[in-house]
Amino acid sequence: MKRVGVIGLQGDVEEHILQTRRAAEEAGESVDVRWVRSREELEDLNGIIIPGGESTTISRLIDKFRMRDEIFRIREEGGVIMGTCAGCIILAAEGDETVEIKGVRLLKMLDVKVDRNAFGRQRESFEAPVHLVLPPTGGFGGWEGDFPGVFIRAPRFIRVGEGVEVLGWLGEEPVMVKAGRVLSLTFHPELTEETLLHRYFLSLMDE
Ligand code: GLN
Repeated sequence: MKRVGVIGLQGDVEEHILQTRRAAEEAGESVDVRWVRSREELEDLNGIIIPGGESTTISRLIDKFRMRDEIFRIREEGGVIMGTCAGCIILAAEGDETVEIKGVRLLKMLDVKVDRNAFGRQRESFEAPVHLVLPPTGGFGGWEGDFPGVFIRAPRFIRVGEGVEVLGWLGEEPVMVKAGRVLSLTFHPELTEETLLHRYFLSLMDE
């Protein structure tokens, strides 16, 4: 049985838990999905979600609860990590100047640079279709089409390193990327009815 934890220190944790459970049900899998509030609760996971919220707060709590090296260990042992919005910022190798000013402690798991509140300066939040091209995985047949993108004070990828695949676009702009078993999304797939991206996340654990 797969075990997934949503790092539940601050942010939209509950929505990710429910969406992962719904995705598991639709995929006909039994998955243990739990709210992770301590280092110990990370121990036996195959998948981790770092949710949206406030990247400064979430990243500081990750360090306060000594979760950083456990998250790296899980990735090294073949676990899948997905960050959405604030989680996307925390996974990045580099951020704009506000990352330093606000004291966001990046995990630097993905070779991308993010502008932390790029869309937010223009408009707080919006919904727009994201064009996805998801390659097939072990238990997932691949998918191409539009997904309802919910953007809330969203970051923007301003550099995508070599070896990082772009799987989702808002117009010409990358909004979902993947390198190995690390997925990063500037939008909120847990805030829609559509379980597709959580099913894709679960399927990467079979690879
Ligand atoms: N821009 C926010 C931050 O810097 C993230 C917003 C979100 O997760 N909805 O943390």
